[in-house]
Amino acid sequence: MAKYKLEYIWLDGYTPVPNLRSKTQIKEFGSFPTLDQLPLWGFDGSSTQQAEGRSSDCMLKPVAVFPDSTRRNGVLVMCEVMMPDGTTPHPSNGRATVLDDPGAWFGFEQEYFLYQDGRPLGFPAEGYPAPQGPYYCGAGFKAVGDLARQIVEEHLDLCLDAGINHEGINAEVAKGQWEFQIFGKGSKRAADEVWVARYILNRLCEKYGIDVEYHCKPIRGDWNGSGMHANFSTTYLREMGGKAYFEALMAAFAENVEEHIAVYGPDNHLRLTGLHETQSIDKFTYGLADRGSSVRMPHSFINDNYRGYLEDRRPNSQGDPYQIASRILKTISTVPTP
Ligand code: ADP
Ligand code: MN
Ligand code: MN
Ligand code: MN
Repeated sequence: MAKYKLEYIWLDGYTPVPNLRSKTQIKEFGSFPTLDQLPLWGFDGSSTQQAEGRSSDCMLKPVAVFPDSTRRNGVLVMCEVMMPDGTTPHPSNGRATVLDDPGAWFGFEQEYFLYQDGRPLGFPAEGYPAPQGPYYCGAGFKAVGDLARQIVEEHLDLCLDAGINHEGINAEVAKGQWEFQIFGKGSKRAADEVWVARYILNRLCEKYGIDVEYHCKPIRGDWNGSGMHANFSTTYLREMGGKAYFEALMAAFAENVEEHIAVYGPDNHLRLTGLHETQSIDKFTYGLADRGSSVRMPHSFINDNYRGYLEDRRPNSQGDPYQIASRILKTISTVPTP
């Protein structure tokens, strides 16, 4: 038997952007615990905008478990927030609204800035660094600095240790801006992993005195904002697809622009301007390999007779991947499959 440090992680009730919260409980197990061995736990919802002070208990229901290589016998436990009965989802619980679909696959491209002293890492104390151009996928101190590279590499290793399905990382277009990509099969898996990867990044940065800035447009002017492109596919889209179905799907997306934008992250009008590889927030377009469209079809999609995955480029870096996945699947579900 060994004592495991179970870090229960959940999303609080702040709007429009929930914060990650976590606390540790110690439990003994014969070996690394599985999900069904992990008990429900409670917390004080009045401190997280999830309850009134007089009846403040909320419940944590474990939904995904990951090894934590930063701690001896460490376990990261992603949780859903439940009402005191332990079975009714709390209103803030976006994960509970995601349709269960093992055939739905998501790939999220999380962009973010590393921040120090209130500005992007590598920005001078006054003014701006050299304009955008050399930073995207850059190498060398001038392009990406040293501390940023160290953090990004350490984060990647911690996520891989945890079994998170990172598919890649890259330096982004603005100085101090980075991206990681996470892919998951099943409607909730990638979203779970994005939240845990964010958690690992936030915690890693503590020791460097660095903050992670997830806002979608932290620097005004000619500096790229941060997105979280949502790549998605369903069994039908991968195996059957076809032009008629695709066009019906895009018509459904066009009819629900406001509903999608509502959960694609706050302040998105600052980012979706039609510039910097985006479409304007009030337009809906799709296109082949077009980074100025709302939804981009990869070449492989057309070449394979409208089969495969699509990229919704509108979700931003501060969006909740549960709500994003939930909305995309809801719109897909309105389109009959022939
Ligand atoms: P880009 O920066 O060119 O948009 P990336 O390589 O950063 O592309 O991201 C592409 C994303 O597409 C990855 O996250 C990948 O996991 C995802 N993806 C690939 N195939 C599928 C699929 N069949 N269903 C859903 N997502 C997919
Ligand atoms: Mn990318
Ligand atoms: Mn990118
Ligand atoms: Mn992309």
